[in-house]
Amino acid sequence: MSLYRLCYASQSIKPDHLIRHDLMDIINAAVVFNTEHHIFGVLYYGQGYFFQCLEGEKEQVDHVFQTRIQLDKRHQNIKVLDCVAIADIQFNSWNMKFAPYEKALMQLFEDHGKSTFNPYLLQPNQLQDFLNRLYLH
Ligand code: FAD
Repeated sequence: MSLYRLCYASQSIKPDHLIRHDLMDIINAAVVFNTEHHIFGVLYYGQGYFFQCLEGEKEQVDHVFQTRIQLDKRHQNIKVLDCVAIADIQFNSWNMKFAPYEKALMQLFEDHGKSTFNPYLLQPNQLQDFLNRLYLH
Protein backbone atom coordinates (compact mmCIF):
# COMPACT_ATOMS: atom_id res chain seq x y z
CA MET A 1 0.00 0.00 0.00
CA SER A 2 1.46 3.35 -1.00
CA LEU A 3 0.38 6.22 1.25
CA TYR A 4 0.37 9.71 -0.03
CA ARG A 5 -0.39 13.24 1.10
CA LEU A 6 -1.65 16.07 -1.06
CA CYS A 7 -2.00 19.63 0.23
CA TYR A 8 -3.47 22.50 -1.69
CA ALA A 9 -4.69 26.05 -1.25
CA SER A 10 -7.69 27.66 -2.93
CA GLN A 11 -10.00 30.65 -2.60
CA SER A 12 -13.70 30.70 -1.91
CA ILE A 13 -15.81 32.31 -4.60
CA LYS A 14 -18.13 33.65 -1.89
CA PRO A 15 -17.30 36.38 0.59
CA ASP A 16 -16.46 35.37 4.12
CA HIS A 17 -19.86 36.20 5.62
CA LEU A 18 -21.75 33.97 3.13
CA ILE A 19 -19.60 30.85 3.35
CA ARG A 20 -21.03 29.16 6.45
CA HIS A 21 -23.69 27.10 4.67
CA ASP A 22 -21.28 25.98 1.95
CA LEU A 23 -18.76 24.88 4.54
CA MET A 24 -21.30 22.59 6.19
CA ASP A 25 -22.25 21.09 2.80
CA ILE A 26 -18.62 20.58 1.84
CA ILE A 27 -17.69 18.91 5.12
CA ASN A 28 -20.76 16.67 5.08
CA ALA A 29 -20.05 15.52 1.50
CA ALA A 30 -16.36 15.08 2.28
CA VAL A 31 -16.92 12.96 5.38
CA VAL A 32 -19.34 10.61 3.58
CA PHE A 33 -17.17 10.15 0.49
CA ASN A 34 -13.82 10.06 2.29
CA THR A 35 -15.03 7.47 4.80
CA GLU A 36 -16.08 5.17 1.95
CA HIS A 37 -12.71 5.66 0.23
CA HIS A 38 -10.40 5.56 3.27
CA ILE A 39 -9.29 9.15 2.83
CA PHE A 40 -8.24 11.23 5.81
CA GLY A 41 -7.15 14.80 6.38
CA VAL A 42 -8.02 18.29 7.41
CA LEU A 43 -9.78 21.25 5.83
CA TYR A 44 -9.03 24.72 7.11
CA TYR A 45 -10.99 27.80 6.15
CA GLY A 46 -10.02 31.35 7.03
CA GLN A 47 -10.36 34.81 5.53
CA GLY A 48 -11.54 33.57 2.14
CA TYR A 49 -8.90 30.87 1.78
CA PHE A 50 -9.12 27.10 1.93
CA PHE A 51 -6.24 24.89 2.88
CA GLN A 52 -6.77 21.14 2.64
CA CYS A 53 -4.60 18.13 3.34
CA LEU A 54 -5.73 14.78 1.90
CA GLU A 55 -4.10 11.54 3.04
CA GLY A 56 -4.63 7.98 1.89
CA GLU A 57 -3.74 5.59 -0.90
CA LYS A 58 -2.40 7.53 -3.86
CA GLU A 59 -5.11 6.30 -6.21
CA GLN A 60 -7.89 7.35 -3.84
CA VAL A 61 -6.40 10.76 -3.06
CA ASP A 62 -5.85 11.54 -6.75
CA HIS A 63 -9.37 10.39 -7.52
CA VAL A 64 -11.13 12.64 -4.97
CA PHE A 65 -8.94 15.57 -5.88
CA GLN A 66 -9.31 15.28 -9.64
CA THR A 67 -12.92 14.17 -9.97
CA ARG A 68 -14.57 16.05 -7.09
CA ILE A 69 -12.52 18.78 -5.47
CA GLN A 70 -10.98 20.30 -8.60
CA LEU A 71 -14.38 20.36 -10.30
CA ASP A 72 -16.14 22.11 -7.44
CA LYS A 73 -17.12 25.61 -8.48
CA ARG A 74 -17.33 26.88 -4.92
CA HIS A 75 -13.60 27.54 -4.96
CA GLN A 76 -11.02 28.72 -7.46
CA ASN A 77 -7.27 29.25 -8.02
CA ILE A 78 -6.47 25.78 -6.72
CA LYS A 79 -2.74 25.45 -6.18
CA VAL A 80 -1.10 22.19 -5.12
CA LEU A 81 1.42 22.96 -2.39
CA ASP A 82 2.69 19.47 -1.74
CA CYS A 83 2.20 15.90 -2.92
CA VAL A 84 4.50 13.40 -1.26
CA ALA A 85 4.70 9.78 -0.19
CA ILE A 86 4.17 9.39 3.56
CA ALA A 87 4.89 6.55 5.98
CA ASP A 88 1.84 7.13 8.22
CA ILE A 89 -1.48 8.91 8.12
CA GLN A 90 -1.29 11.85 10.50
CA PHE A 91 -5.05 12.64 10.56
CA ASN A 92 -6.10 9.01 11.02
CA SER A 93 -8.87 10.00 13.46
CA TRP A 94 -10.62 12.19 10.89
CA ASN A 95 -12.00 11.41 7.45
CA MET A 96 -12.03 15.18 7.18
CA LYS A 97 -11.27 17.28 10.21
CA PHE A 98 -12.66 20.79 9.94
CA ALA A 99 -10.48 23.48 11.43
CA PRO A 100 -12.16 26.88 11.49
CA TYR A 101 -10.32 30.16 11.60
CA GLU A 102 -8.31 30.51 14.75
CA LYS A 103 -6.10 33.41 15.65
CA ALA A 104 -3.50 31.13 17.24
CA LEU A 105 -2.90 29.54 13.83
CA MET A 106 -1.91 32.97 12.54
CA GLN A 107 1.25 32.79 14.60
CA LEU A 108 3.00 30.73 11.94
CA PHE A 109 2.36 33.47 9.39
CA GLU A 110 3.23 36.23 11.83
CA ASP A 111 6.48 34.43 12.61
CA HIS A 112 7.31 34.79 8.94
CA GLY A 113 6.38 38.45 8.78
CA LYS A 114 2.92 38.04 7.23
CA SER A 115 0.01 39.94 8.74
CA THR A 116 -2.79 37.83 7.21
CA PHE A 117 -3.48 34.14 6.76
CA ASN A 118 -2.54 33.16 3.22
CA PRO A 119 -1.91 29.47 2.56
CA TYR A 120 -0.45 30.20 -0.88
CA LEU A 121 2.57 31.59 0.94
CA LEU A 122 3.27 28.35 2.80
CA GLN A 123 6.68 27.03 1.84
CA PRO A 124 7.22 23.26 1.69
CA ASN A 125 9.34 23.42 4.85
CA GLN A 126 6.51 25.21 6.75
CA LEU A 127 3.78 22.77 5.77
CA GLN A 128 4.50 20.14 8.41
CA ASP A 129 4.53 22.85 11.08
CA PHE A 130 1.15 24.11 9.87
CA LEU A 131 -0.27 20.57 9.74
CA ASN A 132 0.93 19.92 13.30
CA ARG A 133 -0.87 23.07 14.45
CA LEU A 134 -4.05 21.98 12.65
CA TYR A 135 -3.75 18.53 14.23
CA LEU A 136 -3.77 20.07 17.70
CA HIS A 137 -6.36 22.75 16.84
P1 FAD B 1 -23.58 17.83 -5.69
O1 FAD B 1 -23.65 18.11 -4.21
O2 FAD B 1 -24.84 17.69 -6.44
O3 FAD B 1 -22.68 18.95 -6.33
C1 FAD B 1 -22.28 18.89 -7.68
C2 FAD B 1 -21.47 20.14 -8.00
O4 FAD B 1 -22.34 21.30 -7.88
C3 FAD B 1 -20.34 20.39 -7.02
O5 FAD B 1 -19.12 19.80 -7.44
C4 FAD B 1 -20.26 21.88 -7.00
O6 FAD B 1 -19.42 22.31 -8.05
C5 FAD B 1 -21.64 22.34 -7.29
N1 FAD B 1 -22.29 22.80 -6.07
C6 FAD B 1 -22.88 22.06 -5.11
N2 FAD B 1 -23.41 22.83 -4.15
C7 FAD B 1 -23.14 24.10 -4.52
C8 FAD B 1 -23.44 25.36 -3.96
N3 FAD B 1 -24.07 25.48 -2.79
N4 FAD B 1 -23.01 26.46 -4.61
C9 FAD B 1 -22.35 26.37 -5.77
N5 FAD B 1 -22.06 25.20 -6.38
C10 FAD B 1 -22.46 24.08 -5.76
N6 FAD B 1 -15.47 16.13 -1.36
C11 FAD B 1 -14.99 14.97 -0.94
O7 FAD B 1 -15.53 13.94 -1.25
N7 FAD B 1 -13.90 14.92 -0.14
C12 FAD B 1 -13.21 16.04 0.23
O8 FAD B 1 -12.23 15.94 0.99
C13 FAD B 1 -13.68 17.29 -0.24
N8 FAD B 1 -13.06 18.44 0.07
C14 FAD B 1 -13.51 19.62 -0.46
C15 FAD B 1 -12.82 20.81 -0.17
C16 FAD B 1 -13.25 22.01 -0.73
C17 FAD B 1 -12.48 23.27 -0.42
C18 FAD B 1 -14.38 22.03 -1.55
C19 FAD B 1 -14.85 23.34 -2.16
C20 FAD B 1 -15.07 20.88 -1.84
C21 FAD B 1 -14.66 19.65 -1.28
N9 FAD B 1 -15.33 18.48 -1.51
C22 FAD B 1 -14.84 17.29 -1.06
C23 FAD B 1 -16.69 18.51 -2.03
C24 FAD B 1 -16.80 18.03 -3.39
O9 FAD B 1 -15.98 18.80 -4.22
C25 FAD B 1 -18.29 18.16 -3.77
O10 FAD B 1 -19.12 18.33 -2.69
C26 FAD B 1 -18.69 16.93 -4.41
O11 FAD B 1 -17.96 16.72 -5.58
C27 FAD B 1 -20.18 17.05 -4.72
O12 FAD B 1 -20.54 15.86 -5.19
P2 FAD B 1 -22.05 15.41 -5.24
O13 FAD B 1 -22.04 14.20 -6.06
O14 FAD B 1 -22.60 15.31 -3.86
O15 FAD B 1 -22.74 16.54 -6.06
